[in-house]
Amino acid sequence: MINSARSQAEPVESQVKIYSRSEHNISRAQISENALKVLYKLQKEGYKAYLVGGCVRDLLLGREPKDFDVVTDADPEQIRKVFRNCRLIGRRFRLAHVHFGREVIEVATFRGAAETQNDKQVLNNEGRLLRDNVYGTIEEDVWRRDFTVNALYYNIKDFSVVDYVDGMADHKSATLRLIGDPETRFREDPVRMLRAVRFAVKLGFRLHPDCEKSMHQVAELLSSIPSARLYDEALKLFLSGYALQTFEMLRHYGLFQVLFPATENCLSMEENGFPRLLLIRALDNSDIRIADGKTVTAYFLFAAFLWEPVQVRAKEKMAHGLVEFMAYQEAANEVISMQVKNTALPRHITMAMREVWGLQSKFDARVGSKPSRLLIHPRFRAAYDFLLLRAETGGADLELAKWWGKYQEANENEQRKMTQPPRKAQGSKPGRKRSYRGKVKDSASGNDGV
Ligand code: ATP
Ligand code: MG
Repeated sequence: MINSARSQAEPVESQVKIYSRSEHNISRAQISENALKVLYKLQKEGYKAYLVGGCVRDLLLGREPKDFDVVTDADPEQIRKVFRNCRLIGRRFRLAHVHFGREVIEVATFRGAAETQNDKQVLNNEGRLLRDNVYGTIEEDVWRRDFTVNALYYNIKDFSVVDYVDGMADHKSATLRLIGDPETRFREDPVRMLRAVRFAVKLGFRLHPDCEKSMHQVAELLSSIPSARLYDEALKLFLSGYALQTFEMLRHYGLFQVLFPATENCLSMEENGFPRLLLIRALDNSDIRIADGKTVTAYFLFAAFLWEPVQVRAKEKMAHGLVEFMAYQEAANEVISMQVKNTALPRHITMAMREVWGLQSKFDARVGSKPSRLLIHPRFRAAYDFLLLRAETGGADLELAKWWGKYQEANENEQRKMTQPPRKAQGSKPGRKRSYRGKVKDSASGNDGV
């Protein structure tokens, strides 16, 4: 049970809990060799060095961390001097990246909690942190982190886990609790709401009730975040292997409508009494693919997110007399230019999305040389998968999708047979034309084909 006294976690030095090596399950064998090298090297040079964040959280759960983040009291320039294979990056937070072939270990300096606002820490008038480059101590660094379970430090000096915010207790009870006052922390950085959803889904943790309450209240603030950052976050959210659950949770907290307003509008409409299912099926399929070790592409998911808005607009345009091809093209342009205000989409992504959408109408041609040309189109596979989704959710002919499934598996000979024009009525001969009554003119045989 969580009592109200524990609803706010504030880092106080006297409250620090140290879990010695025998009191936790993190062993060095689970830690990346390169991360260990970085930790030992910093220590050897006289600096403090800890693993922190998601890697400690995941190691405690017995999961393999996505990456290893190191934190130290050395400032970025000092870190650069310790490692030859190091680059300093970042404006909002200055960080060091230590490169080992393909693996990068991120090394950050303890961030400080500036008492007074100065040129190193800048808030906007909604309380959002725009710049935050104040260096500090570990006690201050704790305060800058988002969730208590993300604020556990693994100390290389004695292999202990250092906990200022009761993160270990929250970890055990599988709770995501913000450090400090939830609303203030969400105002400082509304992306923390997306992180809350991402971690809750990925870890199977529940959100602390105070965190949930604030999220309902300030969800709208997410719209102040630059669209490029929201695109990055959207990728993490939906390419994680838990896209469907994430989608449902984002909608529950009113966050999805900030990321994809046009999609949210369509989701509330029903077509012939049926909810629109294509997106749900796309998310589910992508989770299955990831579980099977297959790849998923961002453009395919974005194409699925925006398909309904494109369709609705295109149908409106056709009702106003525009031909189908033009209607879809204009609808795609409009939907994409609206979406990029929320999540910036790189050009190669929008181009691929347009191709997947544009190829949908080409599947109707099953006679002659068109099918073989479509088959070698670089986006054929994605467009076909999209056709399948449409067919499975009532948006396209199931028989058509099956035909294309068979066609791409068939050998050349079979393919040629499949794309031959339909056989003429009995008695017809090649080159003979049907009359307007449907009879075959064949005066030579005297057979009128009836
Ligand atoms: P993942 O498994 O996705 O890497 P993570 O918790 O490591 O999860 P990162 O984005 O790698 O997430 O960040 C590392 C750590 O930095 C976090 O655990 C958290 O302590 C801190 N952090 C990251 N982003 C924020 C933020 N927006 N606000 C506060 N703290 C943050
Ligand atoms: Mg991480």
